[in-house]
Amino acid sequence: MATSFIDKARISVRAGNGGNGSVSFHREKYVAAGGPDGGDGGRGGSIILQVDDNMSTLMDFRYKRKYEAGNGADGQGARKTGKDGTDLVIKVPRGTLVRDAETGEIMQDMSGSEPYVLCKGGRGGWGNSHFATPTRQVPRFAKAGLPGEAHDVILELKLLADVGLVGFPNVGKSTLLSVVSKAQPKIANYHFTTLFPNLGVVWVEDGVSFVMADIPGIIEGASEGAGLGHDFLRHIDRCRLLVHVVDVSGSEGRAPIADFDAINEELRQYSPDLAQRPQIVAANKCDICEDPDAIARLREHVEAQGYTLVEISAAAHQGTRELVGKVAQMLSVLPPVTVYEPDYVPRPAAVDTSAPLDIQRADDGTWLVEGPWLQRLMGNINFSDYESRMYFDKTLRESGLFQQLEEMGIQDGDTVSMYDFEFEYQR
Ligand code: GDP
Ligand code: MG
Repeated sequence: MATSFIDKARISVRAGNGGNGSVSFHREKYVAAGGPDGGDGGRGGSIILQVDDNMSTLMDFRYKRKYEAGNGADGQGARKTGKDGTDLVIKVPRGTLVRDAETGEIMQDMSGSEPYVLCKGGRGGWGNSHFATPTRQVPRFAKAGLPGEAHDVILELKLLADVGLVGFPNVGKSTLLSVVSKAQPKIANYHFTTLFPNLGVVWVEDGVSFVMADIPGIIEGASEGAGLGHDFLRHIDRCRLLVHVVDVSGSEGRAPIADFDAINEELRQYSPDLAQRPQIVAANKCDICEDPDAIARLREHVEAQGYTLVEISAAAHQGTRELVGKVAQMLSVLPPVTVYEPDYVPRPAAVDTSAPLDIQRADDGTWLVEGPWLQRLMGNINFSDYESRMYFDKTLRESGLFQQLEEMGIQDGDTVSMYDFEFEYQR
C-alpha cells in the first residue's frame, strides 16, 4: 500500500566555495607606485540543519534532493573582501537522524534545537595585500578560494515520543490518542486509517505531561516488510514505554491473547530491544465486550509475563484517566527518551594526486603551489586538528611534491605557499 508519509530520504548537500583573492595595486592620481591592495575572497556559505516543529515528515526531500549554499564572492581592490556566501538552512522535523550515506553512521540526531553545521563553506582565498611583507613589497599573486564540503546523507525520521501505541489495526489506538490528548488522528472502522504517525501531548496534571505516538497498525509479517507497519516501527524505537492496545470485544473476531502474542513477536523480530521495552496493556472496547472471561484470561496471560493490564473503553472514555495515571507513574521512573550519539568518523575523501601541480616562483622567491587536487584536499583539511594536519602532510609527501621541489632547487628556509597556508621548507 502506498503511503504519502515519507520518513526516509537521501540528499546531496554542498557548501559554497570560497571566493578568490584579488591581485590589485593601489592607484591614485599623481601617486606613482601604490602598494598591493587586493582583498580576500569571501567564505563559502555553510549547510546548516535546523529543527522545525511545524514539520512532521521528510516529504519535502522527496522532491528536492540537491542542496547548495552560496559561493563566496571574489575579493576586490582597495582591500575589499568578497561577500561571504549565504548559508543554506535546511529545516527538518524533530527526531531526524542524519546518517552518512555510504556507511550509515550517525552524524547527528536532530532532537535538540541547536543548529547543526553539516558542511562547512570553503575558506576564501587571500588577496595580494595579505602577502605584503617588508621583503615582499610587490606580491603579484593571490590565492584561489577553497571548495566547500560536500556530503551525501540519509535523513531518517524517528519521532520523539515518550509513549508508543502498538496493536493490530482497528483496535482503537487512534481513538485512545484522540481521547487523552488534543491530537485528532483519523478514526474509522476500517484498517490502516492511520497512514502516518500522529503525536499528541497528554496532560496529566500541573506540570506533568508526556508525548504519545500513534503509528499505523502493525500487522503480522510487518517486521519482514510484508506490509504497512514495518517502516513505522522505527518511530517507536525511542519510546520509553509502549501502550499495547488489545481489542477484547471480539467485535472483529479477534482473539485477544493470540493478538497480544503476535504483536510482541513482531516487535521481537524487528528489534529485541524494542520487545523488552516496558509495556502497559490496554484492554480496549470493554463497553461492548460480551465475554467477561475473555478479559480475565487476557489479564492472567499478560500478568504472568509481568505486564500491567488496564481495562478501558477509549470510545466511552472509560478507564482512560486511570491508564494515563499509570503511564505517568511508570514514566516518572524510566530513563529519558533515547538520543543517539553520533558514531560517524570523518574520513577525508581520498584524492587522486597523480596530476602534476602548478609550481611558480614569486619575485621574492616564494614557491607558489596550486592545482585542482590540492585545492580539493585543502578544502577538507582542518589545520587546527592534529590528525587532519598529519593526513595533509602524508598526502603531500606521497604525492611526490617535495621531491619535485627539491629537483627545482628549493632550499631549507624557503617559503612554500599553498592557498591559505604557508610554511617554511625544511628537509
Ligand atoms: P486503530 O486502527 O487502532 O487506530 O483504531 P481506531 O481508533 O481507528 O478505531 C477503530 C474502530 O473501533 C472505530 O470505529 C472506533 O470508533 C472503534 N472503537 C475504538 N475504541 C472503541 C471502544 O472503546 N469501544 C467501541 N465500541 N468501539 C471503539
Ligand atoms: Mg489508527
